[in-house]
Amino acid sequence: MSEVINELVREIRSGRIKLIDLTKPLSPVTPVISLPPPFADAPPFSRKVIAQYDERGPDWYWSEIRMGEHTGTHFDAPIHWITGRDLPHNSCDTLLVQNLVGMACVIDAVTESSRDDDYLLTRERILQWEQEHGKIPQRSWILMRTEWSRRTEAADFLNADDDGPHSPGFDQEACHFLIYERDILGIGVETVGIDPGQAFRFKPPFPNHATVLGAGRFGLASLCNLTALPAIGAFLVACPLKIVKGSGSPTRVLAFVHHGSI
Ligand code: MN
Repeated sequence: MSEVINELVREIRSGRIKLIDLTKPLSPVTPVISLPPPFADAPPFSRKVIAQYDERGPDWYWSEIRMGEHTGTHFDAPIHWITGRDLPHNSCDTLLVQNLVGMACVIDAVTESSRDDDYLLTRERILQWEQEHGKIPQRSWILMRTEWSRRTEAADFLNADDDGPHSPGFDQEACHFLIYERDILGIGVETVGIDPGQAFRFKPPFPNHATVLGAGRFGLASLCNLTALPAIGAFLVACPLKIVKGSGSPTRVLAFVHHGSI
């Protein structure tokens, strides 16, 4: 028996390693991104009961579910974007599972995001984080903490006005830096998508999708509970459903945090 696995199990059982659920509940009230015309929107989550301990199935309960692939806490696979369309291992069924797990680095942007709904996390801010916590390890997940997940009402979460949605995110140059100079696995955010709200206006539009997915890396959106993670040192697991040619999927995202590492 492996001592490492044995110790992992022991530490989890004893509570010295805590599992933090970074996933939001998925239901018909889960906010869904709305794009300006002529772009197509995804349906919100819906459920139709197939049987519920009744004549349709006396001893069981199950439902049929419908939603877009990018609903609620979810994973973006490279094939989601045109820049990642032709990459190897680019869809939910073909991606390499060893790339779904890694160290989490959490960059705190709560103050900035509370002052400015359109706050962009810059390369300078990342370098400043590295001054404090050390260089971002290769193949890490980089999570931007904004407390945006506390916005429980859909209108508040999507935060759209006549100028479109307003929500914070990684600056385009920062994202490029993380991918090409820090070789990260992907970025994670608390907002509806991995680009900031106003990114439809940027050139190119939705630049973080283009950069991250075009490099064969991944995105995590609508995360929560980032407050429970240390700046560095949590172990993150994000496994999308193995949908054939899937561009993404609702995902249960878990972080393993060792006692004393906060
Ligand atoms: Mn997405």
